[in-house]
Amino acid sequence: MRYGLISDIHGNLEAFQASLEALSKLNIDKYLCIGDIVGYGADPKACIALVKSLEPVALVSGNHEWGVLGLLDLEYFNEYAKEAILWTKVALDKGDSDYLLSFRLIYKDDGMTLVHGTLDHPEDFNYTLDINDAYISMKLMKTSLCFVGHSHVPGIFYSEGDGIKANAAPEVKIEEDRKYVVNIGSIGQPRDGDPRASYAVFDDEKKTVEIRRVAYDIKKAQEKILKAGLPGRLASRLSLGE
Ligand code: ZN
Repeated sequence: MRYGLISDIHGNLEAFQASLEALSKLNIDKYLCIGDIVGYGADPKACIALVKSLEPVALVSGNHEWGVLGLLDLEYFNEYAKEAILWTKVALDKGDSDYLLSFRLIYKDDGMTLVHGTLDHPEDFNYTLDINDAYISMKLMKTSLCFVGHSHVPGIFYSEGDGIKANAAPEVKIEEDRKYVVNIGSIGQPRDGDPRASYAVFDDEKKTVEIRRVAYDIKKAQEKILKAGLPGRLASRLSLGE
């Protein structure tokens, strides 16, 4: 089985379409979504519809879903995010909200765990940026693989004895006796200096996880953000990957 993992789309339809086009060439059997479909970008409704059409086997909530649904105090967000959440709330209808409300905080099956933030307090939406952050989830994992999002910085972390290491490459071969925390990065607003959309593929037969990147029409996404009256910073940061 080949799984396509998507996260932090953030209403960026151009980035999402480019990612799905790239994924469609990889014989993906099932999709999994790690949250933050909405927020920041100008196409939250279209992105929700596109996620729905994939019929993902797993849907976990991000902080932006919680913000839009009123489950998270808006004081939690910075001024740009807050403005985007208020804008997104108006753009969505009841059907969209009901769909977002059906997401859970943690998804777990035999092979993998999914959480937007970290496993210790998923409702706090903490970042996984380095080995120390990844270790927090690794200690609590009941599966050998855990996929996370939220920081918009892709990275693969694996257990080594009692410790943890960062994988230098964007792909890894899964070994039986190790645990892996994989931050799949962001489709709609990457923040690792590489503006290309980031997503991941997990092949449970070949036992491989790969973080992949794809270029998209950034200019078009930026123009839509500005036209929608969203903060200019949300447009400019896309071409910088920050
Ligand atoms: Zn996000």
